[in-house]
Amino acid sequence: MIIGCHVQMKAPDFLKGSVKEALSYGCNAFMLYTGAPQNTKRRDTRELKIQEAAALMQANDLPMDRMIIHAPYIINPANSTKESVMELAVSFLQQEIQRVHEIGAKYLVLHPGSYTITDTETGIHTAISQLNKVEVPDDVMITLETMAGKGSEIGWQFEQLAEILSNLKQKDRYGVCLDTCHINDAGYDVTKFDDVLDEFDHVIGLNKLKVIHLNDSLNPRGSHKDRHANIGKGTIGFDTLYAIAHNKRIDHIAKILETPYVDGKPPYKEEIAALTSNKQLRIQAQ
Ligand code: FE
Ligand code: FE
Ligand code: ZN
Repeated sequence: MIIGCHVQMKAPDFLKGSVKEALSYGCNAFMLYTGAPQNTKRRDTRELKIQEAAALMQANDLPMDRMIIHAPYIINPANSTKESVMELAVSFLQQEIQRVHEIGAKYLVLHPGSYTITDTETGIHTAISQLNKVEVPDDVMITLETMAGKGSEIGWQFEQLAEILSNLKQKDRYGVCLDTCHINDAGYDVTKFDDVLDEFDHVIGLNKLKVIHLNDSLNPRGSHKDRHANIGKGTIGFDTLYAIAHNKRIDHIAKILETPYVDGKPPYKEEIAALTSNKQLRIQAQ
């Protein structure tokens, strides 16, 4: 099973520290932001200990595509109403793509964005034209994330992502990141995950699925909320998430936990142990 979680990337060890943190939880894949997700301050990639991180990954038999990068939320490709937001969506995304390239990672997870005061179709068409302004090199792939449909988010129905993907110039440089909390909140029945995969395959194509975010949800199916819960502590539940983690059709795809810290501590070691255990060790509320 390819499984891991969101990890930090901070001074003094930067990416090397990210790899170490991931290994300490028993991860064989992990995801990080190249800086604070809500601002544009970024270190020069030469400071990020890329070589040390790559060496540590190699020593642990982790191919570089197990390091996944999440683009910051400030990139909103669906916004067509504010000049500064539109300019940033293209310029900062292009810089982020360059960082992923320099780091040597492959997948860049990106939220398709929010249309704010227009409408879904305008948001989708804006995202298409904005994404068509960036250049993605051969060694990088942008994975558009399935969203919960909170506020004016686009990309919460597979059809919306399919429309974006089919209108991109560099179709082969794009894939999809499926978030179990988000699709639950969007209205998909994740308890019947094979049906969800069938629908994904029919609408988008299963070959486009590149990353999975494995999260429980605090809210019921169709709530359009996007609040992550710890594995087994939400409305999706342990058994369903365990079944998804072990689903053979997606065993080649990295599953990344983005569950919240518990009492200020990362829950990932225990959650990963429970999900990889044959005995279905239960994480239950004490
Ligand atoms: Fe995300
Ligand atoms: Fe996610
Ligand atoms: Zn989320």
